[in-house]
Amino acid sequence: MKREANLSEISDGRLYGINDMVKADCLDCKGCSDCCSGMGNTITLDPLDVHRIKNGLDIDFAEMLSECVSLNVHEGLIIPSLKMENDKNKCVFLNDSERCDIHAHRPGICRLFPLGRYYEKGTHSYFLQIYECSNKNRTKIKVGKWMDTPDLKQYEKYVDEWHYFILDIQKKIFEIKDTLKIKDINMYILNTFYVMPFSDDRFYEQFYNRLNNAKLKCEC
Ligand code: SF4
Ligand code: SF4
Repeated sequence: MKREANLSEISDGRLYGINDMVKADCLDCKGCSDCCSGMGNTITLDPLDVHRIKNGLDIDFAEMLSECVSLNVHEGLIIPSLKMENDKNKCVFLNDSERCDIHAHRPGICRLFPLGRYYEKGTHSYFLQIYECSNKNRTKIKVGKWMDTPDLKQYEKYVDEWHYFILDIQKKIFEIKDTLKIKDINMYILNTFYVMPFSDDRFYEQFYNRLNNAKLKCEC
């Protein structure tokens, strides 16, 4: 989710790349699960997040909607996010032992925390959210290692492409004003990138094909 904040107020003032060392390693969190509760709809899911959870749990998007995902509108565009359980306000995947049931398939935002992404000039770097993590004795780790994500270069490019595409679509929606057309764009994006499955070994190839088609269709 896009959040406007003054970096100097929420971070250590530094921007990091994947090869930089950063004080983010919570040493397996050791009994803490604070960042898995009370997150509202801020754990937004991109197409790769949804693809990984679908595959990991062997479910489709309709099942995700009934079990673990909610749809929220961000600047006119519907974006899926992880559900928090209403009574306890905990992520639906946080189990009774306060551990993540989908650790291997967890979304990109969870892989990053307590790091965040800072977007600028068509790309992004990372910053350390100094007030968000309860563990104050974190140790240094390489950003890329902390993210625990294969094909990092490809992944980072994908993250940029998706982020700036979403910004373009939101801008387009803001300009359109026609509610039927806005609904049409929303359904198209949802179906193309979240409902329609990707092949596991061809995710990025299929993503870029769909992205190119979506840019043509949505004229952005
Ligand atoms: S707040 Fe920090 S230590 Fe606690 S679960 Fe989240 S990342 Fe781990
Ligand atoms: S998916 Fe896992 S790591 Fe992410 S908020 Fe839920 S329980 Fe926590």
